[in-house]
Amino acid sequence: QVLNDFLDLKGNIRVFCRIRPITMGDNCCLLRPVVALDSSRLALNFAENKRKIYSFDKVFHPSSSQDEVFEEVEPVIKSALDGYNACIFAYGQTGTGKTFTMRSPCSLPKFSSIPSPPSSSSSSILQGCSEGTADHPGVIPRAMEALFKQAADSNHTFLFSFSMLEIYMGYLKDLLVPRTTKATEHMPSCLSIQTDSKGEIEITNLVTIQVSDFNQAKRLYTMGHRSRSTASTNSNQSSSRSHCMTRILMTSFDANMRRRITNKIWMVDLGGSERVLKTKALGRRFEEGKAINLSLSALGDVINSLHRKNCHIPYRNSKLTQVLKDSLASLLEVILITLTTEKQEAKVQQEVEMNSLQYTM
Ligand code: ADP
Ligand code: MG
Repeated sequence: QVLNDFLDLKGNIRVFCRIRPITMGDNCCLLRPVVALDSSRLALNFAENKRKIYSFDKVFHPSSSQDEVFEEVEPVIKSALDGYNACIFAYGQTGTGKTFTMRSPCSLPKFSSIPSPPSSSSSSILQGCSEGTADHPGVIPRAMEALFKQAADSNHTFLFSFSMLEIYMGYLKDLLVPRTTKATEHMPSCLSIQTDSKGEIEITNLVTIQVSDFNQAKRLYTMGHRSRSTASTNSNQSSSRSHCMTRILMTSFDANMRRRITNKIWMVDLGGSERVLKTKALGRRFEEGKAINLSLSALGDVINSLHRKNCHIPYRNSKLTQVLKDSLASLLEVILITLTTEKQEAKVQQEVEMNSLQYTM
């Protein structure tokens, strides 16, 4: 339903879908067949030869590079520098490539048979890729780099500051505050969300550090991620159960150093959208899944209500929508939906139907 909510949207919201290649670690029996029809449509095959077609602003095929993805996202950077609040989200099930797309690969996996894209791309990330992150930065580092570069080329002076937080089980955690002991893990933090007299959201006590170049921002971003993984006993599991949110605040000044405007861009690696009942999760996993699903549907509800120009916008239904309230209201969003692709084999399709334990979307 959240996906349908996103797809109903037009105007200042752009929705892209990125299909990732199959890797050696994938259990192909558990994947749902996805067929990229052309550059903006894809089909999901269901039982009894039924298929559903989804339309996006663009579909990125498994061989699409980080460059190609960022090229489509980049216009939002210019809008942010023009003074608009903006958001970039990655939405999808755990393992579909949200973190790869937003951040960078932690290590590049070995690929299974990689489906060829309809039109081959010369700058494919799959060609000659090496282990490591440096060669394949994702949307967030690229966006930060573009912000500083475009700001330097503009007629205005900008001040940037960086913050990073995580929402886990409805709690906000500041990722720029190092956590050293497990005792503090998953505890309520001292962050609280306030609305100021102009309707702007303030997160009180959130560490906000002024940055004057891309390297400073990148260092803080790396530090935030480090703090995220040390805060959990199992970083992979836990990180897919929380929303990781990076914020750049920017203030621009005119030639006489008079403040023009302060605005922000949020870049969010959302928690995995898998359905808790279908994954048969128990205990804490179940509670985490429930919290993620509640906040994802609250996000879908808010975006939809804004789009329909409803009088009541249900921001209060989750911490995620409360934090993003003044950014969502500007309706300048890019949503990257990630999917895992599938081999087109009748046998696999049958198994998918029998075993719908985990699938992408
Ligand atoms: P998520 O954050 O959605 O849980 P990840 O970003 O961690 O998923 O991706 C899961 C695995 O798939 C990782 O090993 C990642 O390197 C790999 N992967 C994801 N997207 C791509 C892609 N477009 N090309 C190559 N490998 C990818
Ligand atoms: Mg992830």
